Amino acid sequence: MNQQPSIFVWDSNFITGIETIDAQHRSLVELFNNLSAEITQGTWGDTVVIDKLLEDLLAYTQHHFAEETRLMREANLWLTHVQQHTHAHDDFVAQVEALSSSRLTLAERPQALVDFLIAWLGYHILGMDQMMARQIHRVANGESPEKAYLAETDEASRSTKSLLTAITRLYQVVTGLNVNLVTTNQQLEQRVAARTAELDLINDQLRDANQRLTILSQTDGLLGISNRSHFDVVFVSEWQRAIRSEYPVALLMIDLDHFKQFNDNNGHLAGDRCLQSVAKAVSSSLRRPTDLAARYGGEEITVLLVDTDLSGASEVAEKIRQAVFDLQIAHAGSSHHFVTVSIGVAATTPIPGHKAAKLLAAADGAMYRAKNDGRNRIAYSR
Ligand code: GH3
Ligand code: MG
Ligand code: MG
Repeated sequence: MNQQPSIFVWDSNFITGIETIDAQHRSLVELFNNLSAEITQGTWGDTVVIDKLLEDLLAYTQHHFAEETRLMREANLWLTHVQQHTHAHDDFVAQVEALSSSRLTLAERPQALVDFLIAWLGYHILGMDQMMARQIHRVANGESPEKAYLAETDEASRSTKSLLTAITRLYQVVTGLNVNLVTTNQQLEQRVAARTAELDLINDQLRDANQRLTILSQTDGLLGISNRSHFDVVFVSEWQRAIRSEYPVALLMIDLDHFKQFNDNNGHLAGDRCLQSVAKAVSSSLRRPTDLAARYGGEEITVLLVDTDLSGASEVAEKIRQAVFDLQIAHAGSSHHFVTVSIGVAATTPIPGHKAAKLLAAADGAMYRAKNDGRNRIAYSR
């Protein structure tokens, strides 16, 4: 992996003379070079590898900085230096953290930012750490911490002042850039989240609207039960299923008795209300979720009973006949005095090749026999 030339080239100028610190600096540089090489080779999108490298780097940096702070305290260095030095460390950690969190939006210039962090490290080791090392040396040789601090700041200001000022300014510019990137990244994430929530809501509304539309398209507007076309679809698919599973299917054909007369006596509106009451009475008589009542024609209602034989179907039919009679809707034109229905019942266990339409015709035929036998009754297909 690391056959690339190191981005951070170590030389003797970096040596502080404090053995543990120098060893740690070398490890840090190595971690940086690994990260840099990984990024240069185009694995920036490899979340696992880069995350691990950044995590290692951050952990080691924090360990190293803690070690330097311990050393400065132990050597009793002047507090101003200790504060400036630890502040620089904190800032660096914040920069690495910012880089980690924003790196997915930095697809085009990760290398530039890593170069910046490496340059910062070099600058810090050359400047701040060398100053620290020299103060430790002075204090160890009997100089007061304050004197050692003043001597070293003076030294720094004479030899490298303009260079350090330039680098510091550059550092501030890039730091600002980094902060902006993080903020932009966060704003972008918030906008994406808000947009996602809006889209979710619209999707929910669309789904609800579609469900309502589907139900509407399957329902008879006046009676509130399934319409003929929905019945046709369900009947065919249940018929096929009954063939596969070898269970019986039953059909009831329900027709209002002397309904033309009812309309003539009471008006069409009263006829509509009567039809609605009958449809409700039919629906309320059904128990299984697979039972389906549908408006088959004008005043004809059909009921599909899945996995039900003739005797089960006749029980349902009788329940419906009674429920309609119990509505006690007065019907002057009927010998039964109330609105009644005639019901034809047919059931079969279909086998491949059987036509569903035959069951319908059988139920219809039975219904006409119920009419002929006096209405308000049930007849069975033969
Ligand atoms: P039968 O007992 O032999 O079935 O006599 P019937 O009068 O019910 O039979 P027919 O088929 O002659 O008449 C059906 C009537 O149902 C005719 C029509 O006006 C009425 N009808 C059909 N659909 C509706 C509807 O949506 N509303 C109203 N009010 N009446 C309807
Ligand atoms: Mg009719
Ligand atoms: Mg009728």
